[in-house]
Amino acid sequence: MSEFDLVIRGGTIVTAAETARGDIGVKDGRIVALAERLPAGARTVDAGGKLVLPGGVDSHCHIAQPKRGPTRNADSFETGTASALAGGTTSVICFSPQFRGEGLLDVLAGYEAAAAAGAMIDYSFHIVLTDPSDRVMQEELPGLIRRGFRSLKIYMAYDTSALSDVQILTVFALARAEGALVTVHAENHAAIMWLSQRLVETGHTAPRYHPWAKPIAVEREACHRVITLAELTDTPIQVFHVSGAESAAEIERAQARGLKVFGETCPQYLLLDETDLDKPGFEGAKLIFSPAARPKENQEALWRCIRRGVLDVVSSDHAPWVYDSRQGKKAHGDNAPFNQVPNGVPGLETRLPLLFSEGVVKGRIDLHTFVAVTATNPARIFGLHPRKGTLAVGADADIALWDPELTKQVRNADLHHAVDYTPYEGMSVTGWPVATFSRGEPVWDGRSVLARPGRGRLLLRGPYDHIRPAGMLPTPFDPVAGRMRG
Ligand SMILES: [Zn+2]
Repeated sequence: MSEFDLVIRGGTIVTAAETARGDIGVKDGRIVALAERLPAGARTVDAGGKLVLPGGVDSHCHIAQPKRGPTRNADSFETGTASALAGGTTSVICFSPQFRGEGLLDVLAGYEAAAAAGAMIDYSFHIVLTDPSDRVMQEELPGLIRRGFRSLKIYMAYDTSALSDVQILTVFALARAEGALVTVHAENHAAIMWLSQRLVETGHTAPRYHPWAKPIAVEREACHRVITLAELTDTPIQVFHVSGAESAAEIERAQARGLKVFGETCPQYLLLDETDLDKPGFEGAKLIFSPAARPKENQEALWRCIRRGVLDVVSSDHAPWVYDSRQGKKAHGDNAPFNQVPNGVPGLETRLPLLFSEGVVKGRIDLHTFVAVTATNPARIFGLHPRKGTLAVGADADIALWDPELTKQVRNADLHHAVDYTPYEGMSVTGWPVATFSRGEPVWDGRSVLARPGRGRLLLRGPYDHIRPAGMLPTPFDPVAGRMRG
C-alpha cells in the first residue's frame, strides 16, 4: 500500500514566494510531502506542463442571502460552491448578515445549517453588523468572535445597513478588545442619497447614471473617514472592493504611517468600466454594482496598486442576481430607476481565470503576486493560513491544477452559478483550472463537478497573528479599555 492517497506528479509548484518543479504527496487530506520525486500514490495525477497552485480563497462572496422584500440571491451553497471550485477556488468566506432588530446567533445558525447541507468546499462567515445594539455587542458578539468568527463586516452606505460614526467606533473598540478584523463597505451614504434623488427627479433613471450617483469622491471620503476612526481605536480593518485610485491613495497613506489598513479590489474594477453600463434598454442593469464602475483609465492605476501591495487581495464580491427575474435585477420592474436595482455581479467562477489572463498573461502582475492576492493573502488576513492559501507540508491539500495555455471564451452556459448572465460573456481568457482538489479529493476534472453537496467544512479561525493592531493609540487615554494607559 502506498504511503500517499494522492500524488500530483511533475508539475510546476507555485506559491506566493517560490516556484519549484516536483511532486506533492497527500495523505488524509493534507500535504505530507513536497519533493523532486515521490513514489506513486494510491492515485497519481500527471501534472506535466501544468501549474500546481494553492486553491483560491475567495474572502468576499454573497451566497444564499435572503433579503427583506422581493429580491433573492440566486445561488444556494450548492451552486455557489460548485461555481467556485470549477474556477479553482477551494475556500469561501461568505456573510451572516443581521437585519436590524435581529440577534446574531439565530441568523448565523441558519447560515451554518444551509452551508453544512450544501457547501462542496470549506467555508467561513463574516458577521455583518447592521444594528450594534448593547445586547448584541455585549451578549452575542464576544462569544461569536471567540468561537472563531474573527471578521466582522460593516456598511457606511445603504438605508438598511449604514452605521453612524459613533456606531462604527463602538464596533471598532469591541473588535480591538476581542481580536477581530473589521471589513468595511466605504461610501458616503448621505451624498449618494442626495445625488441619486437629484438624478431621478430630473429623469436620469437609466442604469448608465448609477456611476454618476456614486462618484469616486464618495468612496474616497468614506475611506479617509473610516481609516481615521480605525486609527482612534487602533483597530485593523480591510476596506472592501476599492474601486478607485484616489481611495487606494488614502489606504497607501495610512499604511505608510504604520496603520493596519488593508485594501481589497475585485475583477470588475480591473476589467469593466463605466461605458459598459451604456447598453440598450435595461441591459446596463447587469453592470450595476457598488462601488460603481469607473472610467477606463482608472484600471491601470488599480493594477499598479496591486503590484505595489497597497491592494493585496482580489476577491469576487460575488453577488448573484438573476437579470430577467422579479427576484433579481428586475425586482422593481423592467425599467426600474438605477437606484432600485439590486447591486452586484456574479464572479466566483471567473475570478482566477480573469485575473490570470489579464494579469499574468498580459504581464501586469507576476505569478507569485497572482497566488498571493487570490489565495495566500486572504488566507493570512482572515486567519486561515497556513492551513489554506499555500502549498506546504501540513497544509490542507486544496490545489488547483492549472493549464496556463488553455484559451477559452467565457460563456455563461458553461458556468455553474444560478445566474442568467456573466458580465464577461464572450471574453477570450487564457489559463483555466483543469482539476481542483479539496482536502485531497478531486472535486473538478475540467469538465464536471465531482463533489458532493455537504462535504464542505466550517472553518473556525483562531486569534490572528498576522493582523496585530499597530500599537498606535494616539492619546494617553485608551478609549478601548476606558482608562489611562501605562
Ligand atoms: Zn459585497
